Amino acid sequence: MNRRTALKLSALSSSLIAAPSLMSFTKSKQQSRDKAQNNTSGFLQFQMGDLDLLMLSDGYVPLPSIQPIVAPDTSASDVNLTMAEIFQKTKDVELGLNILLINKGDRKILIDTGIGSHFDSSGGWLPQSLEKAGIATDEITDIFITHAHRDHIGGILDQEGILIFKNATYYISQEEFDFWTGKNPDFSASKYQGDHQKSIAFSSTILRKIEDKIHFYQSGDVLFDCLKTELAAGHTPGHTIFSLFSKDQSLTHIVDIVHHQLLIEKPHWGIQFDVDFNKGIATRKKVLQKMAEQKDLLLSMHLPWPGMGHIIQTGDATFKWIPLAYSTPKRVSL
Ligand SMILES: [Zn+2]
Repeated sequence: MNRRTALKLSALSSSLIAAPSLMSFTKSKQQSRDKAQNNTSGFLQFQMGDLDLLMLSDGYVPLPSIQPIVAPDTSASDVNLTMAEIFQKTKDVELGLNILLINKGDRKILIDTGIGSHFDSSGGWLPQSLEKAGIATDEITDIFITHAHRDHIGGILDQEGILIFKNATYYISQEEFDFWTGKNPDFSASKYQGDHQKSIAFSSTILRKIEDKIHFYQSGDVLFDCLKTELAAGHTPGHTIFSLFSKDQSLTHIVDIVHHQLLIEKPHWGIQFDVDFNKGIATRKKVLQKMAEQKDLLLSMHLPWPGMGHIIQTGDATFKWIPLAYSTPKRVSL
């Protein structure tokens, strides 16, 4: 038997061995895949000046396809072409849920709380990720809310409506609180096809529940001596981005200015999630332009894990996302 025959036979026998157990193999593969999915919560450490920072995964938001949520008015062929150019698939898209934690002295400041356990198991991993990082939910002293969409405040309450972060003070812009708890939140400039009333009920219930623990901030306020707020309205009326600074270093958290790299390539294609579609586009262009000029390190809630990187300008109000490269699984050196 020559070497080639031996190789053929070994391939044949291994396929014969595999064949009878194919069904059970597929089943156990699925089970281990499910198990693995449940265990992919986690965190990434980095330091900026005196701040110890963690990016924590709350999971992801699944989208069956990139359209119509992103680029609802653009032709499919144009979208598919740009998606192919940036090596992105157009079906079964996953949007990250990246939650920042700032350790500053005796404060543990969480930026938003993720989607919580009110929806499907693709999200709501934040408590698990905190646990893996050795942090108990009771240790969180402050929660900065960027805006009141469900994927940012859903993690405040558990399924029984009990506060998860029992010792936290909350920070939210007055505009945002007033919008969701007001009589008739105006969605007339949105292209979202979903049920606005459900979103309003969900968000206002949570905001009312924490009302006596809220500290309201104004755009431009500096909180915790390290976080400068900036209103970036459009996604929601009180949507707030911020710069984080310590010593001579800084970075900018652009929150929901973009949900996918496609909106960095083509900011004007827009997204249905914006409460004001056109204002969302104008704000996105303005913020991306500034970030490209300043060459800031950016954090983002929904770009692929861990949502850190830079933006370069490629044309008139078009840009490219350059994800931050790092060398070890759990730590970034800036
Ligand atoms: Zn979001």
